[in-house]
Amino acid sequence: MDMQNVRVRFAPSPTGPLHIGGVRTALYNYLFAKKHNGTFILRIEDTDQTRFVEKAEEYIQEALDWGGITPDESPWNPGEYGPYRQSERKPMYREYADSMIENGTAYYAFDTAEELTEVRERAKAAKMPNWQYNHITRNSMQNSLTLSEDLVKEKIEAGEAYVIRVKIPRNEEVRFEDEIRGWVTVNTSNLDDKVIFKSDGMPTYHLANIVDDHLMKITHVIRGEEWLPSAPLHILLYRYLGWESTMPKLAHLPLILRPDGNGKLSKRDGDRLGFPVFPLNWTDDNTGEESSGYRERGYFPESFNNMLAFLGWNPGTNEEIFKLQELIQAFTLNRVGKSGAKFDAQKALWFQQQYLRSTDNSELAEMVSPIATEMGYSVNANLPAICGMMKERATFLKDIIEEGSYLFGDISNYDEKTVKKKWKENTPSVLSELKIDFEAISEFTAENIETSFSAFLAKKEIGFGQIGPALRLAISGKGMGPSLFEICNILGKEETLKRINTALETIKK
Ligand code: GLU
Repeated sequence: MDMQNVRVRFAPSPTGPLHIGGVRTALYNYLFAKKHNGTFILRIEDTDQTRFVEKAEEYIQEALDWGGITPDESPWNPGEYGPYRQSERKPMYREYADSMIENGTAYYAFDTAEELTEVRERAKAAKMPNWQYNHITRNSMQNSLTLSEDLVKEKIEAGEAYVIRVKIPRNEEVRFEDEIRGWVTVNTSNLDDKVIFKSDGMPTYHLANIVDDHLMKITHVIRGEEWLPSAPLHILLYRYLGWESTMPKLAHLPLILRPDGNGKLSKRDGDRLGFPVFPLNWTDDNTGEESSGYRERGYFPESFNNMLAFLGWNPGTNEEIFKLQELIQAFTLNRVGKSGAKFDAQKALWFQQQYLRSTDNSELAEMVSPIATEMGYSVNANLPAICGMMKERATFLKDIIEEGSYLFGDISNYDEKTVKKKWKENTPSVLSELKIDFEAISEFTAENIETSFSAFLAKKEIGFGQIGPALRLAISGKGMGPSLFEICNILGKEETLKRINTALETIKK
């Protein structure tokens, strides 16, 4: 495959928040481009003005930036092939529709919306529910194939509304080789005469998409499987526009499925099962409805990308942790699967956990610090140590603070169950004795605390269970957590002893 000057594009329609399926398409385009030293382009496909949502474009930009997959050419960073919004390219499309009329591969159609509804209803009543404007039905409709040339001219000059439709041949095989699916063959008798140019002066998705891919010198079209049925039409458009020899290669990505594999993953599934299906939070301005995003949930962009990359692709080894640079190295289209990828919320959490754990303690501290401050805690020089200790039990940054709240401030309460089970009658006296031993430790390191504690157990001839849980309760308020000795070390001698005293005074059975 010639891999010179790879140019790929992500071409979302700004109709709402970007679904994670869209982000995955963007990610695969990005990985493919970077792998081949190519260019990753973002084109906004806003030809359908009725579905346009104002803040959707900004959302797309923010989501890609958050993931670190910023386009090389886009509306906000234009290259030589602009504009990058189809609405701003409006004057460019008409000539291509006209050239197809001239070479007989497209025609004017004057049928009004009412007339079309009527034929559809009639067909339905005659038990033919799937009426299509095609090689058979077009012969009885109002178009430049059935009306005289003069009448067509007259109608156009009188300003009558019309659309331009592609003239799909009756019985032809369209064959193409999809980079992921292999050879696909479709007979044109199954296609309809799609509108390529609308009465409002705008091209439809199909025409605009082909014209732009051609003018922007796109080499590979990597997009979702939902566009596979449109591919034969697109191939015909390339042919009719005389561009077949420079047509981009096509690659249709598998769908992202619900966790049970039953159908496409939707926002409803996410709401029902408690995971986001969008990269960032989104509020619908019309309904006020809110949708949660991975970013606000606390995912790192690296774990989000890693998780997304594996929804439909695998490296062919057992290795699963791939940073963006590693994904670029490893990514190939021939390792993208043909069948749908089941979304796995547990796996998403697992990836996040892995990234949190592998993050350097001081780096974690820098990220945790503002969150802790916002939650009303004061932080000190111990923060990296706290992060290092708590990260093994956390998935998100905020878990470090929530799970380790006793390391950020005073104990708010003692876990009742643990008090009931582990605070025995003799606990206060044993703990008071332990306190005396702790007081004698000169250098209060985790190691020295552990040595002193073990010696205490031996001296008293008791097991860990007889005092360990009570000590944990005294210094953390909890029944479970990381190493006792590390907690004591982080708290420091003074605070540890103070907490033991407070527990002795407060916990009553
Ligand atoms: N505008 C289309 C979309 O919203 C683009 C499809 C394509 O990539 O050709 O998905």
